[in-house]
Amino acid sequence: MAQISEKKVVTITYDLSVTDENQEKVLVESAEADAPMVFLFGQSGLPEEFERQLDGKQAGDSFNFSLTPKQAYGEYDQQAVVDIPKNVFEIDGQIDGEMLQVGNFLPMADNQGHHMQGKVLEIGDEAVKMDFNHPLAGMVMHFDGKVADVREATQEELDHGHVHGEGGHHH
Ligand SMILES: [Zn+2]
Repeated sequence: MAQISEKKVVTITYDLSVTDENQEKVLVESAEADAPMVFLFGQSGLPEEFERQLDGKQAGDSFNFSLTPKQAYGEYDQQAVVDIPKNVFEIDGQIDGEMLQVGNFLPMADNQGHHMQGKVLEIGDEAVKMDFNHPLAGMVMHFDGKVADVREATQEELDHGHVHGEGGHHH
């Protein structure tokens, strides 16, 4: 049976929960059998340690592991919480109240033109407090799941760097 390694297409089901700042475990995502996660091993887009934990497993194997913030999306960084002048959010001199709401994630660009997502924490009279940490920064991630399928990637999938067909790209 095929084992998970480079150049394999892997299908998994899992529950992802995180331990929040109050040390409570909260379920954030569930990939069930009807909509599993299908990815090209080595290119899942998830932290390296996530793939390292799955390395060598085969269809039918279960997994249950945790990633520390250091292995995942980093520690929460107070420096990434910044006040931005409110006029930055104006479009033709108007604030879009639908867009600018506490809890919303907004696409922003820094001075160098790098795109990043920021979460609105507070809206003041002059400034908006935004948090540019990854939403899972500072959290321990717990994965509990099962490997559903492991197959060889096609040459085309390797060339494209993503999975085709079920659970993947259709083009
Ligand atoms: Zn493709």
